[in-house]
Amino acid sequence: MKVNLISDTVTKPSQGMLDAMFSAQVGDDVFKEDPSVNSLESELAKLFEMEAALFFPSGTMTNQTAIKIHTQPGDQLICDHYSHVYNYEGGGVSFNSAVSCRLIEGNRGRITASQVEESVNPPDFYHSPKTRLVCLENSTNKGGGAVYDFKEIIDIREICDTHNLAFHLDGARLWNALEVTDEKPKDYGKVFDTISLCLSKGLGCPVGSVLLGSQVHINNALRIRKIFGGGMRQAGYLAAAGSYAIQHHRKDLNEDHRKAKEIESVLLTCNYVETVEPVSTNIIIFSLISANSELDFIGNLNQKGIDLITLGKRKIRIVTHRDYSQEQHDYVLTTLAKMN
Ligand SMILES: *Cc1c(COP(=O)(O)O)cnc(C)c1O
Repeated sequence: MKVNLISDTVTKPSQGMLDAMFSAQVGDDVFKEDPSVNSLESELAKLFEMEAALFFPSGTMTNQTAIKIHTQPGDQLICDHYSHVYNYEGGGVSFNSAVSCRLIEGNRGRITASQVEESVNPPDFYHSPKTRLVCLENSTNKGGGAVYDFKEIIDIREICDTHNLAFHLDGARLWNALEVTDEKPKDYGKVFDTISLCLSKGLGCPVGSVLLGSQVHINNALRIRKIFGGGMRQAGYLAAAGSYAIQHHRKDLNEDHRKAKEIESVLLTCNYVETVEPVSTNIIIFSLISANSELDFIGNLNQKGIDLITLGKRKIRIVTHRDYSQEQHDYVLTTLAKMN
């Protein structure tokens, strides 16, 4: 059996999604004349009760665009040291926006209001960069799918208000966080200036991310997206996949979470495992006891048909997703248990 648990981006469109894509009404989105893109954008703006939305080819581009619209060269943004904007966007923060990152060592990718407050540079001290923006990630990627307590987010918003800072959410996996907490999308829409959402992760779209914000921010984002080369023509075929996913796939995320929890339970009984980070969504990060090399471990599973990745330092990551069937799941649970 072949099982790919490298990421939740490895999924292929479901038959229903393909049908929706094939029958999409399209136009030239660079002229804002693609009805399927326009309707995805307005559906999401409405769901989050934000003024406007813009469809993008990737989450990296939505984040980079948000950073660009909130900052000027020389400014500084505050984020966790695990954050995607800092670690996995190719240095785009400095390349695209000429901005530096003030890194916070948070808890599994999550930072607190007091940590943010301590990291704001005094605005009249012209020797240090001007703090302009705070970026959060929810759920966290390198933090193993950890989810914020919403109260902390509200407290961080207050710090932003006090210090006149913009507030951006990298919500690549916000759908997963929403699934396991009581907040509604509109709660997030009220607190953040901009939100970036991915459709190509847990929701199973082939491509696509969306940036949400005020009309003014989204007008600016449209210009930046153009500069980044992200204007797409008949993008409605992709946007239709997004609308379909929100309607039909979103409710399946709890299956991914259940499977992740079950993997966690098995790992907790394995004598080759040192620690398992508490699982709240679809990402499992665990570390091997020191006698094991992670490359041997990965290679061994690979021979049994199971693909995973290592994060270095004896840490292994597993990500469940909608193309990971119950049959594959049973096989993975037995295989992990048998490696004892
Ligand atoms: C995947 C991801 C992104 C965006 O990635 P793309 O591959 O560019 O779509 C952004 N932030 C986080 C936390 C992610 O996991």
